Amino acid sequence: MPDVTSRLVADPVGDPAATAPDARRLAGLDELVSRCVACPRLVAWREEVAQVRRAAFRDEEYWGRPVPGFGPEDAAIGIVGLAPAAHGGNRTGRIFTGDRSGDVLFRALYDVGLASQPEARHRDDGLTLHRTRITAPVHCAPPANKPTPTERDTCRPWLVRELALLRPTLRSVVVLGAFGWQALMPVLEQTAWQLPRPRPKFGHDAHVELPAADGGAPLHLLGCYHVSQQNTFTGKLTPAMLRGVLEHARALAGV
Ligand code: SF4
Repeated sequence: MPDVTSRLVADPVGDPAATAPDARRLAGLDELVSRCVACPRLVAWREEVAQVRRAAFRDEEYWGRPVPGFGPEDAAIGIVGLAPAAHGGNRTGRIFTGDRSGDVLFRALYDVGLASQPEARHRDDGLTLHRTRITAPVHCAPPANKPTPTERDTCRPWLVRELALLRPTLRSVVVLGAFGWQALMPVLEQTAWQLPRPRPKFGHDAHVELPAADGGAPLHLLGCYHVSQQNTFTGKLTPAMLRGVLEHARALAGV
């Protein structure tokens, strides 16, 4: 692994591929993720953003570290995005918390009964999710929201382990956007499910049932346009469309 200096991570963990399989519980995995420094470009970027800050958040202390998944160990529904936002998750330390995309997502989760409150402002705001876990294939905020293929692949073992730990209860996954969809395919294969050939294509409302490779329950994979402002401000993704996919995932998961 490259030699990376981090201002904010005092006790970094090693290569995710070697470290992630050791996690026995989600809480332990989340703690390990938050100490990862495997991608030099992303470590530099997340910490620079945390130092420079946006004017509106000048007086806040940014998290500036990898942002782990969020949600209970018995999640039956997974939500997979892209990566934390520079001034959202990278600021607050909780995925989708404190940015416009999160405003849309948590409102919809609340409306369909999967979140305890409609807003997510900071890590200690009391928000809980019901049988739902939100995560991402890349745990650090990338410049221009574009992780490189190497960064995506380096981060993959964290998500493989997360899905393996959720495996006993996980029944449906909503993927927000094409990047998450593509990134998730090898993760699913490495965890417990079989993918058809050719691989299923991303689309809003796409639905594929993946048979289990381990004799367990199948997984329902659902596509949804990303909750980015680009989609929600233009009406490409409306609150009703998002609620529709979440309700479908909920029904398929039997929640
Ligand atoms: S993107 Fe993933 S692998 Fe890279 S530094 Fe962040 S947590 Fe580690």
